[in-house]
Amino acid sequence: MTARVLIVDDIPTNVKLLEARLMAEYFEVVTAASGPQAIEICRTQDIDIVLLDVMMPDMDGFECCRILKGSARTSHIPVVMITALDQPSDKVRGLESGADDFLTKPVDDMQLLARVKSLIRLKVLTDELRARAKTSHQLALEHAARSVEETDSEQGRILVIEGEAVRAERLRSYLQGKHNVDVLTTPSDAVFQISGGDYEVVLVSMDLDGFDPLRVCSQIRTADQTRSLPIILIADEKDRPQIVRGLDLGVNDFIMRPLERYELSARVKTQIRRYRYTVELRESLSSTMQMAVIDELTGLYNRRYFERHLSISLTKAKEQDREMAVMLLDIDYFKSVNDTYGHDVGDVVLKEFALRLQRNIRGVDLACRFGGEEFVVLMPDTDTRQALHVAERVRLAMAQYGFKVGIEKPLDITVSVGLAFNEFETDTPESLIKRADLALYAAKRAGRNRVVSEAA
Ligand code: GH3
Ligand code: MG
Ligand code: MG
Repeated sequence: MTARVLIVDDIPTNVKLLEARLMAEYFEVVTAASGPQAIEICRTQDIDIVLLDVMMPDMDGFECCRILKGSARTSHIPVVMITALDQPSDKVRGLESGADDFLTKPVDDMQLLARVKSLIRLKVLTDELRARAKTSHQLALEHAARSVEETDSEQGRILVIEGEAVRAERLRSYLQGKHNVDVLTTPSDAVFQISGGDYEVVLVSMDLDGFDPLRVCSQIRTADQTRSLPIILIADEKDRPQIVRGLDLGVNDFIMRPLERYELSARVKTQIRRYRYTVELRESLSSTMQMAVIDELTGLYNRRYFERHLSISLTKAKEQDREMAVMLLDIDYFKSVNDTYGHDVGDVVLKEFALRLQRNIRGVDLACRFGGEEFVVLMPDTDTRQALHVAERVRLAMAQYGFKVGIEKPLDITVSVGLAFNEFETDTPESLIKRADLALYAAKRAGRNRVVSEAA
Protein backbone atom coordinates (compact mmCIF):
# COMPACT_ATOMS: atom_id res chain seq x y z
CA MET A 1 0.00 0.00 0.00
CA THR A 2 1.48 3.33 -0.96
CA ALA A 3 0.12 6.81 -0.44
CA ARG A 4 1.03 10.47 -0.25
CA VAL A 5 1.35 11.68 3.32
CA LEU A 6 1.44 15.34 4.31
CA ILE A 7 3.41 16.08 7.49
CA VAL A 8 2.64 19.41 9.14
CA ASP A 9 4.90 20.67 11.92
CA ASP A 10 6.62 23.99 12.58
CA ILE A 11 9.71 22.27 13.99
CA PRO A 12 11.94 20.87 11.20
CA THR A 13 13.41 18.10 13.38
CA ASN A 14 9.96 16.65 14.03
CA VAL A 15 9.19 16.70 10.32
CA LYS A 16 12.46 14.94 9.53
CA LEU A 17 11.83 12.22 12.11
CA LEU A 18 8.38 11.32 10.80
CA GLU A 19 9.47 11.68 7.22
CA ALA A 20 12.30 9.17 7.66
CA ARG A 21 9.98 6.57 9.19
CA LEU A 22 7.33 6.91 6.55
CA MET A 23 9.79 6.93 3.67
CA ALA A 24 11.23 3.71 5.06
CA GLU A 25 7.76 2.21 4.53
CA TYR A 26 7.72 3.56 0.96
CA PHE A 27 5.19 6.29 1.56
CA GLU A 28 5.53 9.43 -0.49
CA VAL A 29 6.00 12.41 1.84
CA VAL A 30 5.08 16.07 1.43
CA THR A 31 5.80 18.58 4.20
CA ALA A 32 4.39 21.87 5.44
CA ALA A 33 5.61 24.17 8.21
CA SER A 34 2.30 25.85 9.05
CA GLY A 35 -1.47 25.42 9.02
CA PRO A 36 -2.17 27.78 6.10
CA GLN A 37 0.52 26.10 4.02
CA ALA A 38 -0.99 22.69 4.80
CA ILE A 39 -4.45 23.87 3.75
CA GLU A 40 -3.08 25.23 0.49
CA ILE A 41 -1.36 21.92 -0.27
CA CYS A 42 -4.49 19.90 0.50
CA ARG A 43 -6.51 22.11 -1.82
CA THR A 44 -4.13 21.85 -4.73
CA GLN A 45 -2.56 18.40 -4.48
CA ASP A 46 -3.76 14.84 -4.04
CA ILE A 47 -3.07 14.12 -0.40
CA ASP A 48 -4.11 10.80 1.09
CA ILE A 49 -3.55 11.56 4.75
CA VAL A 50 -2.40 14.48 6.94
CA LEU A 51 -0.26 14.17 10.07
CA LEU A 52 -0.92 17.39 11.88
CA ASP A 53 0.99 18.85 14.81
CA VAL A 54 -1.30 20.46 17.37
CA MET A 55 1.11 23.04 18.79
CA MET A 56 1.99 25.55 16.10
CA PRO A 57 2.23 29.35 16.27
CA ASP A 58 -0.52 31.47 14.66
CA MET A 59 -2.88 28.72 13.51
CA ASP A 60 -2.86 25.68 15.78
CA GLY A 61 -3.63 22.14 14.68
CA PHE A 62 -7.22 22.18 15.94
CA GLU A 63 -8.08 25.20 13.85
CA CYS A 64 -6.27 23.89 10.79
CA CYS A 65 -8.18 20.62 11.12
CA ARG A 66 -11.51 22.42 11.48
CA ILE A 67 -10.84 24.33 8.27
CA LEU A 68 -9.84 21.20 6.34
CA LYS A 69 -12.88 19.31 7.57
CA GLY A 70 -15.18 22.25 6.96
CA SER A 71 -14.48 22.46 3.26
CA ALA A 72 -16.12 19.98 0.87
CA ARG A 73 -12.93 20.01 -1.15
CA THR A 74 -10.74 18.67 1.64
CA SER A 75 -13.12 17.13 4.19
CA HIS A 76 -12.56 13.59 2.89
CA ILE A 77 -8.82 13.61 3.64
CA PRO A 78 -8.11 11.79 6.91
CA VAL A 79 -6.32 13.85 9.54
CA VAL A 80 -4.23 12.44 12.38
CA MET A 81 -3.42 14.96 15.12
CA ILE A 82 -0.06 14.72 16.81
CA THR A 83 0.04 16.10 20.30
CA ALA A 84 2.71 16.33 22.96
CA LEU A 85 0.08 16.45 25.64
CA ASP A 86 -1.25 13.12 26.76
CA GLN A 87 -4.44 14.67 28.01
CA PRO A 88 -7.73 12.89 27.42
CA SER A 89 -9.38 16.29 27.00
CA ASP A 90 -6.89 17.11 24.26
CA LYS A 91 -7.53 13.88 22.45
CA VAL A 92 -11.22 14.50 22.62
CA ARG A 93 -10.77 18.08 21.45
CA GLY A 94 -8.83 16.72 18.50
CA LEU A 95 -11.49 14.21 17.56
CA GLU A 96 -14.23 16.80 18.08
CA SER A 97 -12.48 19.22 15.73
CA GLY A 98 -13.00 16.57 13.10
CA ALA A 99 -9.67 14.75 13.33
CA ASP A 100 -9.91 11.10 12.37
CA ASP A 101 -7.33 10.00 14.88
CA PHE A 102 -4.52 11.19 17.10
CA LEU A 103 -1.06 10.13 18.20
CA THR A 104 0.96 11.34 21.14
CA LYS A 105 4.61 12.33 21.07
CA PRO A 106 6.99 10.61 21.13
CA VAL A 107 5.23 8.83 18.29
CA ASP A 108 5.23 5.07 18.64
CA ASP A 109 6.22 3.37 15.38
CA MET A 110 3.61 0.65 15.48
CA GLN A 111 0.84 3.09 16.31
CA LEU A 112 1.94 5.44 13.56
CA LEU A 113 1.95 2.82 10.83
CA ALA A 114 -1.19 1.07 12.04
CA ARG A 115 -3.24 4.27 12.10
CA VAL A 116 -1.89 5.57 8.83
CA LYS A 117 -2.53 2.29 7.02
CA SER A 118 -6.03 1.83 8.35
CA LEU A 119 -7.04 5.38 7.44
CA ILE A 120 -5.59 5.07 3.95
CA ARG A 121 -7.48 1.85 3.40
CA LEU A 122 -10.69 3.62 4.29
CA LYS A 123 -9.86 6.56 2.05
CA VAL A 124 -9.33 4.29 -0.93
CA LEU A 125 -12.88 3.04 -0.48
CA THR A 126 -14.50 6.44 -0.03
CA ASP A 127 -12.51 7.90 -2.93
CA GLU A 128 -13.86 5.18 -5.18
CA LEU A 129 -17.44 5.78 -4.07
CA ARG A 130 -17.06 9.54 -4.44
CA ALA A 131 -15.65 9.17 -7.92
CA ARG A 132 -18.50 6.95 -9.04
CA ALA A 133 -21.11 9.27 -7.63
CA LYS A 134 -19.42 12.22 -9.31
CA THR A 135 -19.29 10.78 -12.79
CA SER A 136 -22.90 9.70 -12.57
CA HIS A 137 -24.91 12.81 -11.95
CA GLN A 138 -24.77 16.42 -10.84
CA LEU A 139 -27.38 15.83 -8.16
CA ALA A 140 -25.47 12.99 -6.63
CA LEU A 141 -22.38 15.13 -6.62
CA GLU A 142 -24.13 17.66 -4.43
CA HIS A 143 -25.23 14.85 -2.19
CA ALA A 144 -21.80 13.26 -2.05
CA ALA A 145 -20.17 16.58 -1.35
CA ARG A 146 -21.79 16.52 2.07
CA SER A 147 -18.87 15.97 4.36
CA VAL A 148 -18.33 13.21 6.87
CA GLU A 149 -18.60 15.84 9.59
CA GLU A 150 -22.16 16.67 8.60
CA THR A 151 -23.18 13.08 9.08
CA ASP A 152 -24.62 12.58 12.51
CA SER A 153 -23.51 9.90 14.92
CA GLU A 154 -26.39 9.90 17.39
CA GLN A 155 -28.17 6.76 18.58
CA GLY A 156 -25.71 4.33 17.07
CA ARG A 157 -26.54 0.64 17.13
CA ILE A 158 -23.61 -1.04 18.86
CA LEU A 159 -22.75 -4.65 19.60
CA VAL A 160 -20.25 -5.42 22.34
CA ILE A 161 -18.60 -8.84 22.25
CA GLU A 162 -17.02 -9.39 25.65
CA GLY A 163 -16.69 -12.66 27.55
CA GLU A 164 -16.57 -11.18 30.99
CA ALA A 165 -19.86 -9.88 32.37
CA VAL A 166 -18.48 -7.10 34.59
CA ARG A 167 -16.40 -5.59 31.82
CA ALA A 168 -19.28 -5.91 29.40
CA GLU A 169 -21.56 -4.00 31.75
CA ARG A 170 -18.98 -1.25 32.21
CA LEU A 171 -18.75 -0.83 28.46
CA ARG A 172 -22.49 -0.72 28.20
CA SER A 173 -22.78 1.92 30.91
CA TYR A 174 -20.18 4.10 29.12
CA LEU A 175 -22.12 4.05 25.86
CA GLN A 176 -25.74 3.61 26.87
CA GLY A 177 -27.84 6.74 26.70
CA LYS A 178 -26.16 8.12 23.62
CA HIS A 179 -26.42 4.80 21.80
CA ASN A 180 -28.24 1.49 21.81
CA VAL A 181 -25.96 -1.23 23.09
CA ASP A 182 -26.35 -5.00 22.89
CA VAL A 183 -23.94 -7.32 24.65
CA LEU A 184 -22.88 -10.76 23.48
CA THR A 185 -20.94 -12.87 25.97
CA THR A 186 -20.62 -16.05 23.91
CA PRO A 187 -19.01 -15.19 20.59
CA SER A 188 -19.66 -18.60 19.01
CA ASP A 189 -22.67 -17.34 17.10
CA ALA A 190 -21.46 -13.75 16.74
CA VAL A 191 -21.82 -13.58 12.99
CA PHE A 192 -25.35 -14.90 13.14
CA GLN A 193 -26.30 -12.37 15.80
CA ILE A 194 -24.67 -9.51 13.88
CA SER A 195 -26.23 -10.33 10.52
CA GLY A 196 -29.68 -10.07 12.04
CA GLY A 197 -28.96 -7.01 14.14
CA ASP A 198 -28.53 -4.02 11.84
CA TYR A 199 -25.50 -2.82 13.84
CA GLU A 200 -23.30 0.14 12.96
CA VAL A 201 -20.21 -0.75 14.97
CA VAL A 202 -18.93 -3.82 16.82
CA LEU A 203 -16.57 -3.69 19.79
CA VAL A 204 -14.60 -6.91 20.13
CA SER A 205 -12.69 -7.66 23.31
CA MET A 206 -9.33 -9.36 22.76
CA ASP A 207 -10.02 -11.34 25.90
CA LEU A 208 -12.68 -13.84 24.88
CA ASP A 209 -11.90 -16.75 27.11
CA GLY A 210 -11.34 -19.65 24.76
CA PHE A 211 -12.39 -17.91 21.57
CA ASP A 212 -9.99 -16.34 19.12
CA PRO A 213 -11.12 -12.71 18.80
CA LEU A 214 -9.40 -12.34 15.43
CA ARG A 215 -11.39 -15.27 14.07
CA VAL A 216 -14.54 -13.44 15.08
CA CYS A 217 -13.24 -10.34 13.24
CA SER A 218 -12.35 -12.24 10.11
CA GLN A 219 -15.76 -13.91 10.07
CA ILE A 220 -17.42 -10.51 10.27
CA ARG A 221 -15.26 -9.30 7.39
CA THR A 222 -16.04 -12.25 5.15
CA ALA A 223 -19.81 -12.45 5.66
CA ASP A 224 -21.59 -10.49 2.93
CA GLN A 225 -23.94 -8.57 5.16
CA THR A 226 -21.25 -7.39 7.56
CA ARG A 227 -18.34 -6.86 5.20
CA SER A 228 -18.12 -3.12 5.78
CA LEU A 229 -19.24 -3.03 9.40
CA PRO A 230 -16.69 -1.13 11.54
CA ILE A 231 -14.84 -3.17 14.15
CA ILE A 232 -13.02 -1.73 17.16
CA LEU A 233 -10.75 -4.01 19.16
CA ILE A 234 -10.43 -3.57 22.90
CA ALA A 235 -6.98 -4.71 23.90
CA ASP A 236 -4.32 -4.91 26.57
CA GLU A 237 -0.68 -3.96 26.21
CA LYS A 238 0.18 -7.66 25.78
CA ASP A 239 -2.08 -7.91 22.71
CA ARG A 240 0.04 -5.63 20.53
CA PRO A 241 1.20 -8.23 17.98
CA GLN A 242 -2.39 -9.43 17.65
CA ILE A 243 -3.61 -5.89 17.01
CA VAL A 244 -1.32 -5.55 14.03
CA ARG A 245 -2.73 -8.76 12.59
CA GLY A 246 -6.23 -7.52 13.31
CA LEU A 247 -5.60 -4.31 11.39
CA ASP A 248 -4.39 -6.39 8.47
CA LEU A 249 -7.64 -8.34 8.63
CA GLY A 250 -9.50 -5.07 8.24
CA VAL A 251 -10.21 -4.09 11.84
CA ASN A 252 -10.88 -0.35 11.83
CA ASP A 253 -9.56 0.82 15.17
CA PHE A 254 -8.44 -0.29 18.61
CA ILE A 255 -8.54 1.02 22.16
CA MET A 256 -6.14 0.11 24.94
CA ARG A 257 -7.14 -0.76 28.46
CA PRO A 258 -7.56 0.88 30.89
CA LEU A 259 -10.43 2.35 28.93
CA GLU A 260 -10.96 6.08 29.00
CA ARG A 261 -14.62 6.81 28.75
CA TYR A 262 -14.20 9.85 26.50
CA GLU A 263 -11.75 8.23 24.18
CA LEU A 264 -14.11 5.29 23.82
CA SER A 265 -17.05 7.47 22.99
CA ALA A 266 -15.05 9.62 20.57
CA ARG A 267 -13.76 6.59 18.68
CA VAL A 268 -17.16 4.96 18.55
CA LYS A 269 -18.62 8.21 17.29
CA THR A 270 -16.00 8.50 14.54
CA GLN A 271 -16.67 4.96 13.32
CA ILE A 272 -20.45 5.40 13.31
CA ARG A 273 -20.15 8.65 11.42
CA ARG A 274 -17.90 7.18 8.75
CA TYR A 275 -20.08 4.12 8.43
CA ARG A 276 -23.21 6.22 7.93
CA TYR A 277 -21.34 8.36 5.43
CA THR A 278 -20.38 5.39 3.25
CA VAL A 279 -23.88 3.92 3.53
CA GLU A 280 -25.24 7.27 2.38
CA LEU A 281 -22.78 7.43 -0.52
CA ARG A 282 -23.82 3.98 -1.63
CA GLU A 283 -27.49 4.90 -1.49
CA SER A 284 -26.94 8.12 -3.36
CA LEU A 285 -25.04 6.14 -5.94
CA SER A 286 -27.87 3.70 -6.50
CA SER A 287 -30.44 6.49 -6.74
CA THR A 288 -28.10 8.15 -9.21
CA MET A 289 -28.05 5.03 -11.31
CA GLN A 290 -31.82 5.07 -11.15
CA MET A 291 -31.79 8.65 -12.36
CA ALA A 292 -29.43 7.80 -15.14
CA VAL A 293 -31.97 5.43 -16.72
CA ILE A 294 -35.35 6.91 -15.75
CA ASP A 295 -37.01 9.93 -17.31
CA GLU A 296 -37.87 12.25 -14.48
CA LEU A 297 -41.07 13.76 -15.85
CA THR A 298 -42.87 10.58 -16.89
CA GLY A 299 -41.16 7.90 -14.82
CA LEU A 300 -40.61 5.85 -17.98
CA TYR A 301 -37.17 4.62 -18.98
CA ASN A 302 -35.14 7.15 -20.93
CA ARG A 303 -33.60 7.02 -24.38
CA ARG A 304 -30.20 5.89 -23.21
CA TYR A 305 -31.73 2.91 -21.48
CA PHE A 306 -33.89 2.12 -24.50
CA GLU A 307 -30.98 2.11 -26.89
CA ARG A 308 -28.96 -0.18 -24.69
CA HIS A 309 -31.90 -2.51 -24.20
CA LEU A 310 -32.83 -2.53 -27.88
CA SER A 311 -29.33 -3.50 -28.82
CA ILE A 312 -29.33 -6.43 -26.39
CA SER A 313 -32.83 -7.55 -27.44
CA LEU A 314 -32.05 -7.36 -31.12
CA THR A 315 -28.99 -9.55 -30.73
CA LYS A 316 -31.04 -12.07 -28.80
CA ALA A 317 -33.91 -12.01 -31.32
CA LYS A 318 -31.48 -12.64 -34.16
CA GLU A 319 -29.75 -15.51 -32.38
CA GLN A 320 -33.03 -17.22 -31.58
CA ASP A 321 -34.75 -16.20 -34.79
CA ARG A 322 -37.59 -14.41 -33.02
CA GLU A 323 -39.79 -11.53 -34.10
CA MET A 324 -39.68 -8.13 -32.55
CA ALA A 325 -41.48 -4.84 -33.10
CA VAL A 326 -40.51 -1.24 -32.47
CA MET A 327 -43.32 1.27 -32.03
CA LEU A 328 -42.47 4.95 -32.29
CA LEU A 329 -45.09 7.48 -31.14
CA ASP A 330 -45.23 11.25 -31.56
CA ILE A 331 -47.96 13.46 -30.12
CA ASP A 332 -49.79 15.46 -32.78
CA TYR A 333 -49.56 19.25 -32.78
CA PHE A 334 -48.02 19.22 -29.37
CA LYS A 335 -46.30 22.52 -29.95
CA SER A 336 -49.68 24.23 -30.05
CA VAL A 337 -50.58 22.78 -26.64
CA ASN A 338 -47.52 24.52 -25.23
CA ASP A 339 -48.18 27.68 -27.20
CA THR A 340 -51.83 27.89 -26.14
CA TYR A 341 -51.77 26.67 -22.55
CA GLY A 342 -48.17 26.97 -21.48
CA HIS A 343 -45.32 24.59 -20.87
CA ASP A 344 -46.68 23.36 -17.52
CA VAL A 345 -49.90 22.15 -19.10
CA GLY A 346 -47.75 20.54 -21.77
CA ASP A 347 -45.93 18.64 -19.03
CA VAL A 348 -49.21 17.42 -17.53
CA VAL A 349 -50.22 16.11 -20.96
CA LEU A 350 -46.90 14.27 -21.29
CA LYS A 351 -47.40 12.59 -17.91
CA GLU A 352 -50.94 11.56 -18.70
CA PHE A 353 -49.81 10.33 -22.11
CA ALA A 354 -47.13 8.16 -20.50
CA LEU A 355 -49.68 6.74 -18.08
CA ARG A 356 -52.15 5.82 -20.81
CA LEU A 357 -49.37 4.38 -22.91
CA GLN A 358 -48.17 2.20 -20.07
CA ARG A 359 -51.68 0.95 -19.37
CA ASN A 360 -52.36 -0.06 -22.95
CA ILE A 361 -49.29 -2.05 -23.77
CA ARG A 362 -48.49 -5.53 -22.46
CA GLY A 363 -46.36 -6.47 -19.50
CA VAL A 364 -43.52 -7.67 -21.71
CA ASP A 365 -43.40 -4.44 -23.69
CA LEU A 366 -40.89 -1.81 -22.70
CA ALA A 367 -42.07 1.81 -22.91
CA CYS A 368 -39.58 4.67 -22.94
CA ARG A 369 -39.59 8.39 -23.45
CA PHE A 370 -37.53 8.84 -26.55
CA GLY A 371 -37.29 12.61 -26.11
CA GLY A 372 -39.63 15.63 -26.10
CA GLU A 373 -43.08 14.41 -27.10
CA GLU A 374 -41.80 11.23 -28.70
CA PHE A 375 -42.13 7.82 -27.10
CA VAL A 376 -40.99 4.39 -28.12
CA VAL A 377 -42.10 0.89 -27.19
CA LEU A 378 -40.09 -2.26 -27.70
CA MET A 379 -42.32 -5.31 -28.23
CA PRO A 380 -40.57 -8.68 -28.09
CA ASP A 381 -42.02 -11.77 -29.80
CA THR A 382 -44.50 -9.65 -31.69
CA ASP A 383 -45.63 -10.04 -35.30
CA THR A 384 -47.21 -7.42 -37.54
CA ARG A 385 -50.77 -8.31 -36.68
CA GLN A 386 -50.22 -8.19 -32.91
CA ALA A 387 -48.20 -5.00 -33.15
CA LEU A 388 -50.93 -3.27 -35.16
CA HIS A 389 -53.43 -4.37 -32.57
CA VAL A 390 -51.47 -2.91 -29.66
CA ALA A 391 -50.67 0.29 -31.58
CA GLU A 392 -54.29 0.82 -32.49
CA ARG A 393 -55.33 0.30 -28.88
CA VAL A 394 -52.80 2.91 -27.75
CA ARG A 395 -53.92 5.39 -30.42
CA LEU A 396 -57.53 5.00 -29.32
CA ALA A 397 -56.61 5.30 -25.65
CA MET A 398 -55.33 8.81 -26.40
CA ALA A 399 -58.00 9.99 -28.83
CA GLN A 400 -61.08 8.55 -27.13
CA TYR A 401 -61.14 10.70 -24.02
CA GLY A 402 -59.88 14.23 -23.53
CA PHE A 403 -56.87 14.89 -21.26
CA LYS A 404 -57.83 16.56 -17.98
CA VAL A 405 -55.16 19.15 -17.36
CA GLY A 406 -56.74 21.48 -14.83
CA ILE A 407 -58.23 23.93 -17.27
CA GLU A 408 -61.90 24.47 -18.18
CA LYS A 409 -62.32 21.53 -20.55
CA PRO A 410 -60.33 18.40 -21.31
CA LEU A 411 -57.88 18.70 -24.20
CA ASP A 412 -58.18 16.59 -27.30
CA ILE A 413 -54.86 14.88 -27.80
CA THR A 414 -53.99 12.48 -30.60
CA VAL A 415 -50.91 10.52 -31.52
CA SER A 416 -49.30 9.24 -34.68
CA VAL A 417 -47.60 5.87 -34.60
CA GLY A 418 -44.96 4.18 -36.74
CA LEU A 419 -44.15 0.46 -36.58
CA ALA A 420 -41.04 -1.41 -37.71
CA PHE A 421 -39.91 -5.04 -37.41
CA ASN A 422 -36.62 -6.90 -37.36
CA GLU A 423 -36.92 -8.32 -40.83
CA PHE A 424 -33.37 -8.28 -42.09
CA GLU A 425 -30.22 -10.00 -41.03
CA THR A 426 -28.46 -6.66 -41.41
CA ASP A 427 -30.80 -4.83 -39.01
CA THR A 428 -29.20 -2.69 -36.33
CA PRO A 429 -30.86 -0.71 -33.53
CA GLU A 430 -30.34 2.41 -35.65
CA SER A 431 -31.83 0.94 -38.82
CA LEU A 432 -34.89 -0.30 -36.89
CA ILE A 433 -35.53 3.07 -35.31
CA LYS A 434 -34.93 4.75 -38.64
CA ARG A 435 -37.59 2.63 -40.33
CA ALA A 436 -40.05 3.17 -37.48
CA ASP A 437 -39.41 6.89 -37.91
CA LEU A 438 -40.16 6.70 -41.64
CA ALA A 439 -43.44 4.92 -40.87
CA LEU A 440 -44.25 7.58 -38.29
CA TYR A 441 -43.52 10.30 -40.81
CA ALA A 442 -45.91 8.61 -43.24
CA ALA A 443 -48.61 8.59 -40.54
CA LYS A 444 -48.12 12.33 -40.01
CA ARG A 445 -48.29 13.03 -43.71
CA ALA A 446 -51.43 10.96 -44.09
CA GLY A 447 -53.23 13.26 -41.65
CA ARG A 448 -52.05 12.22 -38.15
CA ASN A 449 -53.98 10.30 -35.47
CA ARG A 450 -53.20 7.03 -37.17
CA VAL A 451 -50.94 3.98 -37.19
CA VAL A 452 -48.64 3.12 -40.09
CA SER A 453 -46.73 -0.11 -40.23
CA GLU A 454 -43.75 -0.39 -42.58
CA ALA A 455 -44.88 -3.84 -43.59
CA ALA A 456 -48.44 -2.77 -44.36
P1 GH3 B 1 -46.42 17.16 -35.12
O1 GH3 B 1 -47.87 16.83 -35.12
O2 GH3 B 1 -45.85 17.31 -36.47
O3 GH3 B 1 -45.64 16.20 -34.29
O4 GH3 B 1 -46.30 18.60 -34.44
P2 GH3 B 1 -45.75 18.94 -33.03
O5 GH3 B 1 -46.15 20.33 -32.69
O6 GH3 B 1 -46.13 17.90 -32.03
O7 GH3 B 1 -44.19 18.78 -33.28
P3 GH3 B 1 -42.96 19.70 -32.99
O8 GH3 B 1 -41.78 18.80 -33.11
O9 GH3 B 1 -42.99 20.92 -33.88
O10 GH3 B 1 -43.10 20.22 -31.51
C1 GH3 B 1 -42.81 19.45 -30.42
C2 GH3 B 1 -42.91 20.32 -29.21
O11 GH3 B 1 -42.74 19.58 -28.01
C3 GH3 B 1 -41.88 21.40 -29.20
C4 GH3 B 1 -41.34 21.37 -27.79
O12 GH3 B 1 -41.36 22.66 -27.21
C5 GH3 B 1 -42.28 20.48 -27.04
N1 GH3 B 1 -41.63 19.77 -25.95
C6 GH3 B 1 -40.55 18.96 -26.02
N2 GH3 B 1 -40.25 18.47 -24.78
C7 GH3 B 1 -41.15 19.00 -23.91
C8 GH3 B 1 -41.36 18.88 -22.48
O13 GH3 B 1 -40.63 18.18 -21.77
N3 GH3 B 1 -42.39 19.55 -21.94
C9 GH3 B 1 -43.21 20.34 -22.72
N4 GH3 B 1 -44.22 20.97 -22.12
N5 GH3 B 1 -43.03 20.48 -24.05
C10 GH3 B 1 -42.03 19.82 -24.65
MG1 MG C 1 -41.82 15.64 -32.53
MG1 MG D 1 -45.35 15.96 -32.28
